[in-house]
Amino acid sequence: MRKLPSHVEYVIIGGGIIGLSIAYHLTQLGHRDVLLLERDQLASGTTWHAAGLVTQLRANENMAKLAQYSAELFRDLEKLTGQATGFRQSGSITVAATTARLEELKRGASMGRSFGLEVEMIDAAEAKRRVPLLDVSDILGAAWIASDGMTNPIDTTRAFAAGARQGGATILERTPVTRIAVENGRFTGVETAEGIVRAEKAVICTGMWSRSVGADLNWTIPLHAAEHFYVVTESIPDLPHNLPTIRDMDARFYAKADAGKLLVGFFEPDGKPWGMEGIAQDFSFDSLPEDFDHIEPYLSAAIERMPALANVGLQLNFNGPESFTPDNRFLLGPAPEITGLYTATGFNSCGIESSGGAGKVMAEWMSKGQPSNDFWEMDVRRAMPFQRNRKYLYDRTIEAVGNLWVLHYPHKSAKTARNVRLSPLHDRLAQAGANFGEIAGWERVQWFGAPGSPTSSHGTFGRDDWFRLSGEEHEATRSGVALFDQTSFAHLLVQGKDALALLQRLSTNDVDVPLGRIVYTPWLNERGGMESDVTIARTGEDEFLVVTAAVQRIRDLAWLKIHAKGAGHVSVADVSSGYTTLSVMGPRSRDLLKRVSPADFSDDAFRFATSREIEIGYGLAMAFRMTFVGELGWELHIPVEQALGIYDALVAAGQDLGVRHAGYVALNSLRLEAGYRDWGSDVGDEDTPLQSGLGFTIAWDKGSDFIGRFALETQRGQMPRRRLVHLAAPQAAPLIFGTEPVWRNGALVGYLRSAGFGHTVGCGIGMGYLHSDTGVSAEWLSKGDFEIEIAGERHAAMATLRPLFDAKRTRVKGEWLKTEDLIHPELRAAMSKARP
Ligand SMILES: Cc1cc2nc3c(=O)[nH]c(=O)nc-3n(C[C@H](O)[C@H](O)[C@H](O)COP(=O)(O)OP(=O)(O)OC[C@H]3O[C@@H](n4cnc5c(N)ncnc54)[C@H](O)[C@@H]3O)c2cc1C
Repeated sequence: MRKLPSHVEYVIIGGGIIGLSIAYHLTQLGHRDVLLLERDQLASGTTWHAAGLVTQLRANENMAKLAQYSAELFRDLEKLTGQATGFRQSGSITVAATTARLEELKRGASMGRSFGLEVEMIDAAEAKRRVPLLDVSDILGAAWIASDGMTNPIDTTRAFAAGARQGGATILERTPVTRIAVENGRFTGVETAEGIVRAEKAVICTGMWSRSVGADLNWTIPLHAAEHFYVVTESIPDLPHNLPTIRDMDARFYAKADAGKLLVGFFEPDGKPWGMEGIAQDFSFDSLPEDFDHIEPYLSAAIERMPALANVGLQLNFNGPESFTPDNRFLLGPAPEITGLYTATGFNSCGIESSGGAGKVMAEWMSKGQPSNDFWEMDVRRAMPFQRNRKYLYDRTIEAVGNLWVLHYPHKSAKTARNVRLSPLHDRLAQAGANFGEIAGWERVQWFGAPGSPTSSHGTFGRDDWFRLSGEEHEATRSGVALFDQTSFAHLLVQGKDALALLQRLSTNDVDVPLGRIVYTPWLNERGGMESDVTIARTGEDEFLVVTAAVQRIRDLAWLKIHAKGAGHVSVADVSSGYTTLSVMGPRSRDLLKRVSPADFSDDAFRFATSREIEIGYGLAMAFRMTFVGELGWELHIPVEQALGIYDALVAAGQDLGVRHAGYVALNSLRLEAGYRDWGSDVGDEDTPLQSGLGFTIAWDKGSDFIGRFALETQRGQMPRRRLVHLAAPQAAPLIFGTEPVWRNGALVGYLRSAGFGHTVGCGIGMGYLHSDTGVSAEWLSKGDFEIEIAGERHAAMATLRPLFDAKRTRVKGEWLKTEDLIHPELRAAMSKARP
């Protein structure tokens, strides 16, 4: 007889494939005290009707790795659990009928190579040989992945359930969780109709119900269901049993053999959001009404690609709901401000193929308190509170379905649900020709076109208009003065007599500085990885202003608040909405500021890494002498209501200085040259400052302990075997954007974490962690022949531990040396050889 336990260690809420994979993986880690509660029957939500394709090449490395692990696990799952899964490794073929799609596939194949996913690029004739069904008359090439395949979603879910039960887990069906209990910011248990279960940790795996489950706790889990369609044909004579799965992303269909029939599914450009008013609790093994008109164009495209389809009827026209997220990335990880509560949801039609990896990651995360790898791209803490607004989710979901398969051009932004968070300068910047991109809801300038007519075309992987425009902004920042609107920065105020002690405990650097000093510092986790990096200004004896990136706002705020508990007399407040940040950067920034402010900006009076209140225009601003572009400059943190006036004063005063507006693409290329790390790309929670070349931020002797110190001590004085390196490809014509593999003497040694074009140094540049068993030393770098692989082609590269531009930071200090002389000598030599 079933019995609800009164207390367990782990509760999993939701018995779809994700919940069961987590249960299985928790038991694999040795946890037996695991309870899974399912509202109805296992797999009755979305899982039961999935098409079951298992595709490993995804938009980014971590998502691909989750699928890669799943495919490996599915191969053995029957043996491990005794339950058949229906997994078949039939291979997959993705065709390209345009040069852009072919390039994207080639770039993806290169990315896959950097972590061991074998993707073979084949020509049209070979594609036809492998899949005779295809009309390849317009095909330019295809990606072939032999280890891809398909699985039966219900049987695979059952296999996870069998394995979990064998490992000691209890699985109870028809037991909806009616309430999640939280006391003093800590998860304490779940309520069901049969009683309360007290528990240490829980994970919400409730698929499309998750948004409302989170909202009950004031927790933003931003997803929305959308209708999702496939058809199944009648039997097709001679259809090979082992037909590879087929994908034509431009035609927007996929196909797989299904017991002698063909299942053809769609990712149409304009999706149909569903269930905005909430999803009924009794929606089980249900489907939605068919909508033939909606899928007809894509079915026709599928018939053109596979003409045999024209001669068979349709046996099933299926429509079922699946949840999509605003940025098409999964939602994994802990509730920012509720200890012990996690989620794993928002799988954007990839939940079957990602289930193995997601279950493993979540089990490790819950068991050890942190994930085994850096999963920031999918971390639910990136969600902003406004994202639980249902209209926003509804409108974005129209695009989210199709976005999975659009070409992922550089600097591409969503088109729907825009203008959520606007800088007070927004209209002025728009008039000046701003082309906006969206991040965390913020409209941020990517680059400027002609005033009044933004240039938004960026429809290739090549040197489109954005390249020239952002290049001009880059040059203007190096030679004159540029204004960057950085209002999306988050500002967190930490106050109280124990504020210093709290920040000292979180920071590797010494925050006990005189009033007016600014400190750049990593915040570490216990294993020494960088949970964040922030700038802290001491604004009072017991008052500090923490400035952090837009996307880190929720994560950093939660980190502060969690550690503030029990830290004595300290308060933490998010004051982001009170500030506009305008950065004045470039060798002539001082000249410009002197025209609008009586403050003394000389080196003696206003030293680097200091801040002070200044009069400017008719207002007051907090000026930080800081830079992220490697030039003399000041960040102005301005009360929101004074921002327009101060901006107007700066623009008017800067006319004859040639003051230029500049956007985030230029900011990125400037910071790459100067070697500044971008948290989330170059540094993250598995990278220690010692591996990342940020040893100068560790104040070993500051006299107080900090989180992660112990882990750093074990690396101290050792030659890192994994280390962040600056790379350049002096002769490469194709652009690089990050994820490109790096080779040394013919062996793969890492990949680029972030990359762009260095307009001052004149070539593609990036940063990435390279590996060597003997240590990544300057000598190891100098003795290697390096190459960067771009879309399948390898290009000669140079690798160095020093930034590629102005390694001695002369410009930041206000010294003026010729730009040419500041380029890394080795790169300068390589560039002059590269020039005809
Ligand atoms: C048409 C279609 C085709 C697809 N094809 C593929 C494919 O080829 N490959 C692929 O990888 N993915 C595919 N997917 C996506 C995949 O099906 C989903 O991503 C995956 O099933 C999500 O699993 P889940 O466990 O997160 O959600 P679900 O399967 O929905 O599970 C959530 C569970 O939570 C339970 N629940 C809800 N509220 C409560 C509560 N209060 N208490 C207890 N339990 C609760 C529900 O009953 C449900 O069983 C497809 C989806 C659709 C719709």
